[in-house]
Amino acid sequence: MPAHTETDVVLIGCGIMSATLGVMLKELDPQLKIHVFERLDAIAGESSDAWNNAGTGHAGLCELNYTPERPDGSIDLTKALKVDEEFEQSKQFWAWLARQKRLEPQRFINSLPHMSFTEGAENRDFLGKRHAAMAAHPFFRGMEFTADRDVIAQWAPLLMKDRHDNGIYAATRSMLGTDVNYGALTRLLFADLEKQPEVVLHLGHEVRDLERTDDGKWRVEAKDLKRGMRQVYHAPFVFIGAGGGALPLLEKSDIPEAAGYGGFPVSGEWLRCLNPRIIMQHHAKVYGKAKSGSPPMSVPHLDRRTIGEDHALLFGPFAGFSTKFLKHGSWLDLPSSLEWDNLVPMMQAGWKNLDLTKYLIEQVRLTPEERLEELKEFMPSAKLEDWELAIAGQRVQVIKKDPKEGGILEFGTELVAAADGSLAALLGASPGASTAVSIMLNLIPRCFQERVANSDRHDGLRRMVPSHGHSLAQDTAMLQSIRSASHAALGLVMPA
Ligand SMILES: Cc1cc2nc3c(=O)[nH]c(=O)nc-3n(C[C@H](O)[C@H](O)[C@H](O)COP(=O)(O)OP(=O)(O)OC[C@H]3O[C@@H](n4cnc5c(N)ncnc54)[C@H](O)[C@@H]3O)c2cc1C
Repeated sequence: MPAHTETDVVLIGCGIMSATLGVMLKELDPQLKIHVFERLDAIAGESSDAWNNAGTGHAGLCELNYTPERPDGSIDLTKALKVDEEFEQSKQFWAWLARQKRLEPQRFINSLPHMSFTEGAENRDFLGKRHAAMAAHPFFRGMEFTADRDVIAQWAPLLMKDRHDNGIYAATRSMLGTDVNYGALTRLLFADLEKQPEVVLHLGHEVRDLERTDDGKWRVEAKDLKRGMRQVYHAPFVFIGAGGGALPLLEKSDIPEAAGYGGFPVSGEWLRCLNPRIIMQHHAKVYGKAKSGSPPMSVPHLDRRTIGEDHALLFGPFAGFSTKFLKHGSWLDLPSSLEWDNLVPMMQAGWKNLDLTKYLIEQVRLTPEERLEELKEFMPSAKLEDWELAIAGQRVQVIKKDPKEGGILEFGTELVAAADGSLAALLGASPGASTAVSIMLNLIPRCFQERVANSDRHDGLRRMVPSHGHSLAQDTAMLQSIRSASHAALGLVMPA
């Protein structure tokens, strides 16, 4: 039996989730000993890296699937309001770090207009109604709507260039949008964390096993992949922030709350523009409508990106099928995750989501010319030679037991925590990195009830995220002052 090391916290995975939780926990209790394990040799090598996700600061401004039309024709803003509130929390946390010179905002976040773009009379009417509902709410004030081709061409010239038909087009634009390099942000957060005492990062270390010990702690076994050595750590709290690798570790934990969970991997692909002349003509994130029957993560968008010193343009996502749970994972990931208690939910969810299976088969069979046709719906002047195919990150969609349906497939993010708060895992990938701060504001009170006194925890969280515990959607004055302060600290545009 190898000797073990005692620690207070084990974080598994060096993505945006562990980075955010680590920094928050150290603020609440600077004495905490934290050990972080990452199987790759680099920080943010999976979904959090810049090209592995779309870099959208999801704030409900442009994602049409967040504002469905109700049967009575009105627009349901619930999801857009929730996502916007969560992104305001993220901006507050980053602004708090930026004010202390612990993060350089220009290295990871930029203002970028968020647009929605539709074709056809029915979609124009929907967009008009959606705009009326949103612009009336303080969260989305200042959002513009147009059905004028010339105005759309001013906002995003590539959308209208060489569009020779007489079609009906409409668009909205919000200047509150952002492009975020979550990979750079994750590396900056870990650099900050590593400067603090009692924090150790173990790169190239894969967590292989998790087991409860008799004293209620967790025995975490990690393998040093270079030296082939096993190391054992004992901790009263473990966070499984392993992205696609979270499900197999959660299964190993054997906590009753994990029973019945399964995962279905969907890989992403982009078309990436190679022509700097074209890239410089587009300065927005433009989201369209998902094709009917296709899943929410397939909403097409044409995005300007800033990654380091480089400007880029991406279109997608296209979906691919792989049985790997991580981009750098194993083909055995999906079959190995099947257990007695998730077999029925997995089969039921598969049977009830034949649309998704059909969509994936169609996507996998797309030729380069067919992908170009999809891009041309956004950018009619696109030419094949200006674009290359790039592989994005893996998403593992959550499958869970459902008393009525047997098993359901979910497209959101799910925090699974042991009843005693000693272990928590994050499954799923949407809206994802944008909501890391809100996820941790939810996790910390559930898992650190006893370790950090109530009043210290509340004060600490309010220091990092001043709106914590308040609804900005209902407090317009607070929204205005908090948003202005965050945007000023992060160097973001603050429309009048
Ligand atoms: C195609 C695509 C587009 C997306 N677009 C957006 C977007 O526009 N905006 C947005 O906000 N979000 C987006 N997301 C979601 C977002 O990228 C993820 O939600 C987020 O990056 C997840 O962070 P994480 O820290 O949980 O996981 P990851 O960044 O995947 O990190 C997990 C880490 O754990 C490591 N690991 C796994 N298993 C082990 C183990 N056993 N031992 C040690 N280490 C392990 C992995 O190597 C990895 O480095 C997108 C995702 C995809 C795939």
